[in-house]
Amino acid sequence: MSITDDQPTHPLPELDEIRHRYRTERDKRLRPDGPDQYIQVKGSFAHYMDDPWADPEFTREPLHDEVEVLVVGGGLGGLVAGARLRQQGLDSIRFVEPASDFGGTWYWNRYPGISCDVESYIYLPLLEEVGYVPKRKYSYGQEILDHCHAIARQFDLYRDACFQTRVTEVRWDGAASRWTVETDRGDEIKARYVCLALGQLSKPKLPGIPGIEEFEGHSFHTCRWDFDYTGGNQEGNLTGLSGKRVGVIGTGASGVQVVPHIAEWAEHLYVFQRTPSSVDIKHNPETDPEWARSLSPGWHQHRRENFNALVSGVPQEEDLVDDGWTDLIGNLVRLFRDGDGVDLSPEGIQRAVELADLQKMEQVRARVDELVDDPETAELLKPYYRQFCKRPCIDNDYLPAFNRPNVTLVDTAGKGVDRITATGVVVGDREYEVDCLIYASGFEVGTPLSQRGGFEIIGSQGETLMEKWADGLRTMHGMHMHGFPNLFLMSIGQSANTVNYTHILDEQAIHLSYIVARAREIGAVTVEVSAEAEEAWVDACRGQANNRGFFEDCTPGYYNNEGQARNSQNGPYGVGPGTIEFLQLLGDWRADDELTGMELRCEQSPRGGS
Ligand code: NDP
Repeated sequence: MSITDDQPTHPLPELDEIRHRYRTERDKRLRPDGPDQYIQVKGSFAHYMDDPWADPEFTREPLHDEVEVLVVGGGLGGLVAGARLRQQGLDSIRFVEPASDFGGTWYWNRYPGISCDVESYIYLPLLEEVGYVPKRKYSYGQEILDHCHAIARQFDLYRDACFQTRVTEVRWDGAASRWTVETDRGDEIKARYVCLALGQLSKPKLPGIPGIEEFEGHSFHTCRWDFDYTGGNQEGNLTGLSGKRVGVIGTGASGVQVVPHIAEWAEHLYVFQRTPSSVDIKHNPETDPEWARSLSPGWHQHRRENFNALVSGVPQEEDLVDDGWTDLIGNLVRLFRDGDGVDLSPEGIQRAVELADLQKMEQVRARVDELVDDPETAELLKPYYRQFCKRPCIDNDYLPAFNRPNVTLVDTAGKGVDRITATGVVVGDREYEVDCLIYASGFEVGTPLSQRGGFEIIGSQGETLMEKWADGLRTMHGMHMHGFPNLFLMSIGQSANTVNYTHILDEQAIHLSYIVARAREIGAVTVEVSAEAEEAWVDACRGQANNRGFFEDCTPGYYNNEGQARNSQNGPYGVGPGTIEFLQLLGDWRADDELTGMELRCEQSPRGGS
C-alpha cells in the first residue's frame, strides 16, 4: 500500500498490522493505578520546588487594601488577562505570584535546551500590541521569558504586583460584595474580581517508584534546574557534570531537550525510557526581516486561527505555519487531491486520516534509523502510537546523542524503572549507579485545583470550589461557577484545548475582560452565572465526545489520563474542531451583548441577565 507523493519510499504497513502493533505497545504500558502512579512533590521532596531565582532576603509589610481585580498567577494566562483588562480601561489590577517575576512556566523551567516547539509567531501572545516579532521560528525559553516581561512593562502590570507571595485563601465576603484574598505574607486584600490563572502544567510530579526517597546522590526535577550543581546555563556548558554519572528518568518533551546537553558533559548518561517520544526534525530558521516588515495588522490572529483550523482537521487554503503539527492535515489533503477514488463515507475519511497518520509516523520512525547508528537502540527509540497520542517533539540533537559512547539508553519495555536505591536505579536485574538523578517526569494534570494552587476558594454559600466539584466540574464556559460571583477561571476543563494553548488563554482573557467591562458599564456589583445556565453547560459538556475513542486506543500518558478514560464532564468542551466551535460560541455570546446566563446585581436596581 502506498498513498501519496514525496513521502516514505518504502511501502506502508497494512493498517490492521499497525493497529495490532499499537495496541500491543499500549497494553504493555497500561497499569491499574493509572494517574495514581505519580506522587506529589512534597515532604522530603519539597525542596525540588524551591525557587533558585528568588531573593531569600525579600520582605515587605503585609497589605490590607483593596483592588478592582486580583489575578492569581503571573504566567502567560495571568499576563494576557492583565493586558486585556487594561485594554478595557481597568486601572486597579494586582497580581499575586509565588515567583519573583512574571513568566510562569518560562520562569520556572530554565533547563538547558529549553525551547517551545509551537511556532513562536503564534505561541507568543500580544505580539502586535508589544510590537515584537520573534527572532526565529521556534523561540528558546529566554526569549519567551523576556517577552513575558515585555508584556508586563507594556501594560504596566508590575505596578501593583506582589511577587514571592502565595495565596492561602480566597473567600467571598457577601456583605462587602468583595473577595478577600489572604496570602502567606499576611496580606488581606479585598478584590471586586478575582481571576484564577494557575496554569496547566505548573506543579511538578514524581513517579511513585519504590525506593524513590532512598536515593542519597544529588537529584532534582527539570522544572527547577540546579545550575549550582551542573554549572552552565540554558545554552548548555554543564561543566559541573564532568566526571559525574547522571540518570534521567523521563523521555517526554523536557527529557528530549535536556538529554543532548547532559550527554555532552557527563562522564556517563543513562536515559531511562518507558515510552519513546516521537521526535521529528526541527527547522528553526531566523526570522526573515523582510517578511517581518511585510506583516500587516491582524496578522497574528489570522496566523493562529489558520494553525488552529489545520491542527483541528479543518483544511485551509494555505498552511501558514507549515510544520510537523500541520503536515498531518497536509498529508490528508494530498491524499484527497491525488488519491484515486477516495471513499468519502465517514469510514472512508476515518481510514484516510489513519493512513495519513501512519505515513507521518513511518517518517518519524525512519528518521530514527537514519540518525541512530546502533540498530537495536534505534528500534527501542521508535514510537509505536498515533501522532497525537502523546505530545510530539521536534529536535535534531536528541536521537544522535545515543551514538555517543558515554550515553546508554535503558529501555524498560514499557514498565518503567523498577526501583531506586541509595546509589542508583534498578531496571530488571541490573542496578545503574549514578551520582545525580534528574526527573523529567512531568507535571500534575487533572489533580484538584486546590492541590495545584495550594489554597481553597470559598464561595457565597460557604462551600469550597472543591466541594462544589465533588461529583465533577460545574461551570459555564469553563470560566464561571454558580455560587462564586465575580470569579473567573482560566483552565481547560469545560473550556477548550488546542496545541497552541496561549491562543485559548488569550481568548479567555478577551472574554473575561469584556464581562468585567460590561458589568462596570451597567453598574453591576456582582456578575454570576445562574444555576440553570451552569447546568445547561455541564449537560453540553457531558454530551461532547472529544476524541474519546481516539484517546482510549492511545498509549497511556497525561493526554488520556494514563489510559483511564476521563469522565467527559471533567474534560474540555472542545478539542479538535470543537475548539473552533467553542471559540465561535464565546465570540457570538459577546456579540449578543446580553451576558446571557449571567445574573447581575446592581447597587440600586438589581436586574438579571437574559
Ligand atoms: P511528560 O509528562 O511529557 O513526560 C514524563 C516522562 O516521564 C515520560 O517520558 C514518562 O514515560 C516518564 N516516566 C514517568 N514515570 C516513569 C517511570 N516510572 N519510569 C520511567 N519513566 C517514567 O513531561 P514533560 O515535562 O516532558 O512534558 C510535559 C509537557 O510540557 C509536554 O507535553 C509539553 O506540553 C510541555 N513541554 C513543551 C516543551 C516544548 O514545547 N518543547 C518542552 C517541555 C515541556 P511515559 O511516556 O511512559 O509516561
